Amino acid sequence: MDLVTLLENFDTQEKCINHLEKIRWNSKPLCPYCNCTKVSSVAIERRHKCLNCNRSFSVLVGTVFESTKLPLKKWFTAIFIIVGAKKGISSLELSRHLDVNKDTAWFLQRRIRTAMEETNLLKGIVEIDETYVGGSMTKMHKSYKKKKNYFPAGMQHKTPVLGMQQREGKIILRVLKKAWGEEIKPILCQSIAKESTVVTDGFGGYFGIGNVYKDHIILNHDKKIFTKGRFHTNTIEGFWGILKRAIIGSYHKISIKYFQEYLNEIAFKFNYKKNEERFNTLVNNMISRAFPFSG
Ligand SMILES: [Zn+2]
Repeated sequence: MDLVTLLENFDTQEKCINHLEKIRWNSKPLCPYCNCTKVSSVAIERRHKCLNCNRSFSVLVGTVFESTKLPLKKWFTAIFIIVGAKKGISSLELSRHLDVNKDTAWFLQRRIRTAMEETNLLKGIVEIDETYVGGSMTKMHKSYKKKKNYFPAGMQHKTPVLGMQQREGKIILRVLKKAWGEEIKPILCQSIAKESTVVTDGFGGYFGIGNVYKDHIILNHDKKIFTKGRFHTNTIEGFWGILKRAIIGSYHKISIKYFQEYLNEIAFKFNYKKNEERFNTLVNNMISRAFPFSG
């Protein structure tokens, strides 16, 4: 799908709403407050009124789009531009394309990146590894040294990132505050199905996960053991190069506060290769999920 076709398909609020109602409700409105299907439609802005709880609602209630004042056409265009940007796009650049101010572009970008989070569990053989992203203090420009929450191409503090990759499947990336079992184990449980075989190196943070999964293959890299039959962690280790190049090549500076959102975008673009698939997956995620935080 090219941008011209997209803009034709979604050039009015009505067309966008129809599309979202079809995805979310199969075009049969359902009250988000009480799940009642008896609703009357109000003509204004495609709102519906629940005949059970009397509240009025649109398809956007309880979704990432909730309470947006921006025409949906701009949202759809933003999604299209973001999924098509090979090296990512700054909110400033996005604001110019959409003719909105920079804060609005940032607001859109954060919501879209959050909706990029993979929520389907990984399964089968899943490789797990951690890496540290960042550089040393000495390479940093002095203006960054003062701003402790920012890192340019190299971060002042190396930030641990956990990667989980299904063999011939998707990848999930998570920022860690600290690379240790207490933080890693709950993330593994949220991301990987219990019937999976997990493969890790001998790092202590993975100790005990064999109790959770069908099988835990440990490759003791310290003892130069890198494969056991078909089990290895080469796929996820190969991904770290892609991640580091993406971080260095794409973003002048990344706030640690928003680093997870950047990781979502990098993983999403790796998991979904075609622009049309990316666009449809994102719109689908955005209309079926709530935005998890405000501001
Ligand atoms: Zn209701």
